[in-house]
Amino acid sequence: MKISVRNPQLLPVMLLVLVITSCNPGNPEKDVIQLSWETNQTVTYQEAIHKYEKLDNTFETARLLEQGTTDAGKPFHLFVISRDKDFQPNSIHKKNKRVILVNNGVHPGEPCGIDASLQFANDILLNKDGMGRYLENTVICIVPVYSVGGALKRTPYIRSNQNSPEERGRRGNRRNLDLNRDYSKQDSQNAQSLASIFQIWQPDVFLDTHTTNGSDHQHTITLIPVQPSTLPTVLEGFLREKMLPALYQGMKETPYEMIPYVMFNNRNPENGIISYLQSPRVSTGYAQMFQVLGFMTENHVYKPYPDRVRSVYHFITKLSEFTSTHGEEISRLRHKAQQNIRRKQTYTLDYKLDTSRSRPLHFMGYRQGTITSKLTGLQYKGYDHSKPFEDTIPFYSHYNPVSQVKAPDYYIIPQAWRHVIHRMKINGALMHRLNKDTLLKVQSYYITNHDHLKSSYQGRYYHNKVEVSKQQEELSFYKGDYVVPVNQIRNEYIVQMLEPEGKDSFFRWAFFDPCLERRDWNHPGVTFETNAKRYLETHPELKEQYLQKKQQDPGFARDHMAQLEYIFNHSQWSKSIIGRYPVARLEQGDNLKHLW
Ligand SMILES: [Zn+2]
Repeated sequence: MKISVRNPQLLPVMLLVLVITSCNPGNPEKDVIQLSWETNQTVTYQEAIHKYEKLDNTFETARLLEQGTTDAGKPFHLFVISRDKDFQPNSIHKKNKRVILVNNGVHPGEPCGIDASLQFANDILLNKDGMGRYLENTVICIVPVYSVGGALKRTPYIRSNQNSPEERGRRGNRRNLDLNRDYSKQDSQNAQSLASIFQIWQPDVFLDTHTTNGSDHQHTITLIPVQPSTLPTVLEGFLREKMLPALYQGMKETPYEMIPYVMFNNRNPENGIISYLQSPRVSTGYAQMFQVLGFMTENHVYKPYPDRVRSVYHFITKLSEFTSTHGEEISRLRHKAQQNIRRKQTYTLDYKLDTSRSRPLHFMGYRQGTITSKLTGLQYKGYDHSKPFEDTIPFYSHYNPVSQVKAPDYYIIPQAWRHVIHRMKINGALMHRLNKDTLLKVQSYYITNHDHLKSSYQGRYYHNKVEVSKQQEELSFYKGDYVVPVNQIRNEYIVQMLEPEGKDSFFRWAFFDPCLERRDWNHPGVTFETNAKRYLETHPELKEQYLQKKQQDPGFARDHMAQLEYIFNHSQWSKSIIGRYPVARLEQGDNLKHLW
């Protein structure tokens, strides 16, 4: 069924017809759990967990698991729907089943996914409209509420631009972190628990549900997929040519025609929409590093809450249907991508939009105009809801690499950087440890230029500019230091996080800042005079240069400190390790394997 919403006033009537005639989320007579999203209310954190417990108690094919903890001290819950009643990830993978992971409440002020997932779990477990068939070869995992701390700080007085649902949670979690900026640096316990889930459950498909208050238009639901250009070629083609068209088409058959997340080209709809380029700090960027087909739904915040819930409900349904129908292909392509990535040598750290490639996109927006405020009586510029329009506009969704790096055979991380090691481990990077102290010829990066944000961002002083130079040198490493081979299915994560110029690397997020600081103060003082004199005697070339400079530069010849500084700056005393990035790159280390 194709519905084109030309007149938004007709939307409630049309929805009523569709609710009766198509897949029906929320049928109170049969439902195991009762939800109130149709009356503009979302569940509290405690209610969400109780309702999943009830589903767990009712159905043998569902289980509410505790998989780690959160910053609020509450458990990290995972609700698993598995038709075989098998809740062991290893065994599920052996049975050649796909895993879909749905994450909700990353921003608890955007709870449509929390309610939609509960409704979906209820409905698929009841096999409404035959939905249970999606479970034949697919296991569905749902995170009820990711930011437990944010959900607990619930109030009507948050997100003042939003009037639904009646109460909602806050964006910051218990540590006031924005969890959709914490996927790569993982300062929150929530992110670390999710990283473990990613490794244990190894989802094939990942969905993170959100709501946006960006530009205004008629669409209730928009989509941010992993930017296809950033995926391995085999997955790029599948996502771009098959999966995304099927999902958009699938949503067209519901009352909620979905479009890509709306980022207008030069802030004007007529110039078209630009595909969102994720970086690893956000959910889709994190998924990309593990070759997972990742999606973010962004519901439009100005639409009625029941519509937002229904639209994401439909999307979860379509995603499950597609994954189930194309299960073998998804497994085969992901396996191929992971095999290829073991041998991948060149990695892209940044991309630029290709403005020469676009496709036509059906867009339903509102004209901009002058609006008279009902509150102040004054006029302002904005989207005029009395002037809807439909148009075909360009959609730009190809990106080209602009910054690439060749990975070494191995990275070596001194064990001192334990916060980095810890994150590498929970993200599945396989590492060896040196079995003795040793001297190794490595390539070092020196941070030659860097800048950081003026104020704290997500609890850290993020480096918005990083420039490096490379140097071959012989350095000491100690027994227990970590050797990371770049020949594994976690390569993308390893390179993106360890290359200092990576957009969300550990260096960018200030994990390695001590390497930028001077420790041993070597500035030439009075005692240096004796040392400098002796140094010149053993370094006749420098002595010659120094004497020449004295002759040619009268100011220099009269300045005692300038002369000491000159000798110091040209001596070995001035050689420092300031700015040496601690993670070394090792090439051709295969003949050194006896060291680990
Ligand atoms: Zn959000």
